[in-house]
Amino acid sequence: MLQNRLQPVLDPYALARELSNKLLIEGAFVPAKSGKTFPIVSPATGEKVAEAAEAEAADVEAAVAAAAKAQRGWAKLAARERGKLVAECGRLLNEHVEELGRLVALETGKALRTESRVEASVLADVFIFYGGLGSELKGETVPFRPDMLTMTLREPIGVVGAIIPWNVPMMLMALKIAPALVAGNAVVVKSAEEAPLAVLRACQIMNQVLPAGVLNILSGFGPECGGPLVAHPKVGKVTFTGSVETGKIVYKTAAEKLIPVTLELGGKSPMIVMGDADLEKAVAGAIVGMRFTRQGQSCTAASRIFVHESIHDAFVDKLKAKVDAMKMGDPLDETTDIGTIISKQQFEKVQSYIKIGEETPGAKALRCSAMPKDKKLEKGLFVQPVIFTGISNDSRVAREEIFGPVTCVIKFKDYEDAIRQANDSEYGLAATIWTKDLKTALDAAHRLEAGFVQVNQNLVVQANLSYGGVKSSGLGKEASLEAMLEHFTTKKTVIVNMA
Ligand code: ADP
Repeated sequence: MLQNRLQPVLDPYALARELSNKLLIEGAFVPAKSGKTFPIVSPATGEKVAEAAEAEAADVEAAVAAAAKAQRGWAKLAARERGKLVAECGRLLNEHVEELGRLVALETGKALRTESRVEASVLADVFIFYGGLGSELKGETVPFRPDMLTMTLREPIGVVGAIIPWNVPMMLMALKIAPALVAGNAVVVKSAEEAPLAVLRACQIMNQVLPAGVLNILSGFGPECGGPLVAHPKVGKVTFTGSVETGKIVYKTAAEKLIPVTLELGGKSPMIVMGDADLEKAVAGAIVGMRFTRQGQSCTAASRIFVHESIHDAFVDKLKAKVDAMKMGDPLDETTDIGTIISKQQFEKVQSYIKIGEETPGAKALRCSAMPKDKKLEKGLFVQPVIFTGISNDSRVAREEIFGPVTCVIKFKDYEDAIRQANDSEYGLAATIWTKDLKTALDAAHRLEAGFVQVNQNLVVQANLSYGGVKSSGLGKEASLEAMLEHFTTKKTVIVNMA
């Protein structure tokens, strides 16, 4: 447990410097054993804001050993006691919402008002939600034979390896570690190389109340740090959010060890707008669904919008006008709606997809909003949001995950055809249908191949609602009680002979 109650540090630059060259293992800050670091650069200005410690196999070894040692005592606590401590983590995180929001805005380029501060408060909420679920780790009694008392017990798995991405690092970390901890596991988190700071700070805050070693966090690169974590013999479960390619590598390594995995992977989420839909609401839903405020960097981004031909043109005009009205700029500025892309690599990937789209026969690229003019942002990784029209569901920009502010509006005539096209994708994470007709809405809800379907709205992930994809979008669920029970415990059957 770290001593002295931490006070929020509202200057994200100062905090980033303070968090430099640190891993959090067994409740203490340590540098990487190799002494190596890598730079963390603000995507809005190009300036270096911190040096993250570069963990490798030796650091993974230390973190897993600490977790394995701490887990034994942690699992012995009454489940409600663990829950209380996890809820206390949520309350502490709540005191740091502003600080964490600013820090994640600095390192990821996500706008503070529209994205980063919101993410920080969701982080706290997830811990408070799971903190109340300790006593739900129930087993069952089974009417097996009258002379035998038969029951099942929910037991922790042991050490959980959690590998997280950069787009919503705090929220996605929370969905992994809060249920894992309440269920009695210890966790080693591997942060994304692009965004290690806010999650490190969040873990530092939580280590004020958690026993040392129960929650450890490493920063480092995928193959050198994430790889050894997945492969470590003492890691009994891996929960991963990231790309399909890396998800497959993680799955293969886990298969060698025969351990369970949860994989949250990509998406190319369809939104079907029927001719009778409330146009204003559907357009507002497309703005939220496409996560324009996050530069489209979301696996649930509504990146394929199928609009009935009778309202197609009106929909496109309204959508463009709304995105045009959004302000791109300094992520830390309260007036900014849209910040930057995370990294040079992603920036180039997004630009190359925009080019592919522009070269697609029949395509029209509507560039929205205006690039920021501020001199200090001239090196910033800003991309004007693009709405493609005149494109088919077979084109590359409609099939491949871009993870940027690029959406396709595809015209359709016939409902059956819209459903067919919506399902004609490698992915199946989320989907929405917009209509006033109840029968159409329910029919679509049944037939859309996705793990998370909404009618006439586009809410983001909620702590108490099961979330996860089908097809190449992943395996297993996150959020909700069900995710904690199914993915962070094992079930033991006990038979007591009463004769
Ligand atoms: P992205 O392309 O969006 O960065 P990745 O799937 O590569 O997505 O990254 C998601 C997370 O997976 C990051 O924390 C990254 O470091 C980690 N990662 C990348 N490669 C590996 C690997 N071979 N083994 C384990 N983790 C990895």
